[in-house]
Amino acid sequence: MKKTLYPKFILAYFIFGMFSFIIVTTFVPNMTREHLVRSKAETLYREASLISSTYASSLYASETDLETVKTHLDLLALHLDSTIRIINPSGRLVLDTDAPLDVDKEVMVEDFDPTAAGSSYYMVNDFFGNFGSDMLSVFFPITADYLVKGYVVIHCDMATIQQSCNSLLNISYITLAVLLLLSLIILIFFTEIVYVPLRKITYATEQYANGNMHYEFQVDSDDEIGYLAACLSYMASQIAGAEDDQKKFVANVSHDFRSPLTSIRGYLEAMLDGTIPPEMHEKYLNIVLNETERLTKLTNSLLSLNNLNTKGMLLDPTDFDINGIIRSTAAAFEGTCRAKTIAIEMILTGDKMYVHADMEKIQQVLYNLLDNAIKFSHHDSVIKVETSVKKSKLFVSVKDTGIGIPKEDLKLIWDRFYKSDLSRGRDKKGTGLGLSIVKEIINCHGEHINVISTVGVGSEFILSLPMSDRDDEED
Ligand code: ADP
Repeated sequence: MKKTLYPKFILAYFIFGMFSFIIVTTFVPNMTREHLVRSKAETLYREASLISSTYASSLYASETDLETVKTHLDLLALHLDSTIRIINPSGRLVLDTDAPLDVDKEVMVEDFDPTAAGSSYYMVNDFFGNFGSDMLSVFFPITADYLVKGYVVIHCDMATIQQSCNSLLNISYITLAVLLLLSLIILIFFTEIVYVPLRKITYATEQYANGNMHYEFQVDSDDEIGYLAACLSYMASQIAGAEDDQKKFVANVSHDFRSPLTSIRGYLEAMLDGTIPPEMHEKYLNIVLNETERLTKLTNSLLSLNNLNTKGMLLDPTDFDINGIIRSTAAAFEGTCRAKTIAIEMILTGDKMYVHADMEKIQQVLYNLLDNAIKFSHHDSVIKVETSVKKSKLFVSVKDTGIGIPKEDLKLIWDRFYKSDLSRGRDKKGTGLGLSIVKEIINCHGEHINVISTVGVGSEFILSLPMSDRDDEED
C-alpha cells in the first residue's frame, strides 16, 4: 500500500491528544494537590508558631486563663477554616476549638506521637484515628525553660483542599480541551492548505511521469505551493509543446525528404524501363541533379540548425568588417540577379564598419536573407541593403519590393519548415528552414531580428549586431 502523509499527521494528532490527556489527568492533579497541601501547611505552620509563642506560652505560664485563650483561638479557627488544638506531650487535649471547654473531662488523643510526622512539620491522615476522614495536621511545640510543654496542632479538612484542587484542575481540563480543539483546527487548515494541493501536485506529477503531458490541474493559492503547481503545469505544457514540435519536425523532415526522393526514383525508373527515351535522358538527369541539390541543401540546413541548438556554444565571435561581408555575399548572387535583372543597391555606413560577432554565421544570415529577397522579388526590381548605427549597435536592413508576406504569416515564417502559401508556387526549392537558421544565429548572439512586410509591396528584414570596440579606432 502507498504510504501517504495524511494518516501520519492524524496519528501524530492522536498521540499528541493522548499524551496531553494522560499528563493532565495524572501528573497535573497530583502536582496541584501536593502544591496546595504544602502551601496550606506552610500557612498553618506560621499560625501555629504564632499561637505557640503568644496564647499557648502565656497559658502555660498561667498568665492567661484557658477560657480567654479558647475565645481567641475559636475566632482564629473560624478565620482559618480549621480546628486548633493544644495537646500535652502525653496526648491529653488541653483545648479544642471544635468542642466546648470542660476542665473536668479528660480527653486523650490515643497513641499521640508528635514525632510521627518525622522530619516534616505536617502530616495527612486521620490523626491517630481521631477523625473519620483525612486531615492536614500541622504541629508546633510549646516550649518553656527548654522543655516541651505541649503542642499547638492545627487541622484542616483535606476535603476543603481537594475542592480548591478540583477548581484549579477544571481550568487545566478546559485549557486542554481548547488546545485540542485548536490543534484540530490547525489540522483541518493544514489539510486544506497543504495536503490537498500536495495531493493534486503529486497526482499531476504521476500523470506527467506516465507521459500524459496534457494533464491539466489547478491549485488556487498564491503561496509557494501555488507557485510550485503553476511552475509544474507550465513545465508540462512546455514539454508537451516541445514534443508536439518534435513530432511536427520529424513529419516535416520526412515529407521534405520523401518528395525529392520520389521524383528521383520516378525519373530513374522511367529512364531504365525506357518510358523516357535516351535522347531525353539529359533533360531528366538535370532534374534529378536539381533534386539531389535540394536534398543536399536540406541536409546542410538541418545540420546547421542542430548545431545552433546548443545555444551560443558554437559561436566564434571576432571583430570583422560587416561592409566587406555584405559586399562579398551580394557578389555571390551576381549570376542569379543578372538572370532576373535584379539590382542590389548597397547604402553602407562608413567605408569599414567593425562588428563583434561570428563572421561565418553572420555571412550565412546575410546569404539567407538575400537569397529570400531575390527569390521573392519580381524581375527588374531593386533590393536595398542598408546599414546604420544607433547606440553602439549596427543595424542591417535587407529590403525588397517583392511579393511580401501576409500579415497572418509574419509570426510563423521563423518556424522550421514554414513556407507561406504565396511562396509555394514560386519557390519549389525552398526548405522553410532559412529563416529559422537566421533567427537562431541572431538569438545566439543575443541580438534581434524583425520583419516589416506588406503583401504586394515588399519585405524588409532588420537585424542588430554588436559594434566592436575596434571600430572606433579604425574610424
Ligand atoms: P525558404 O527556404 O522557403 O525560403 P525561409 O525560412 O527562408 O524558407 O522562409 C520561410 C518563408 O517565409 C518563405 O517560404 C516565404 O513564404 C517567406 N519569406 C521569407 N523571406 C521572404 C521575402 N523576402 N519575401 C516574401 N516572403 C518571404
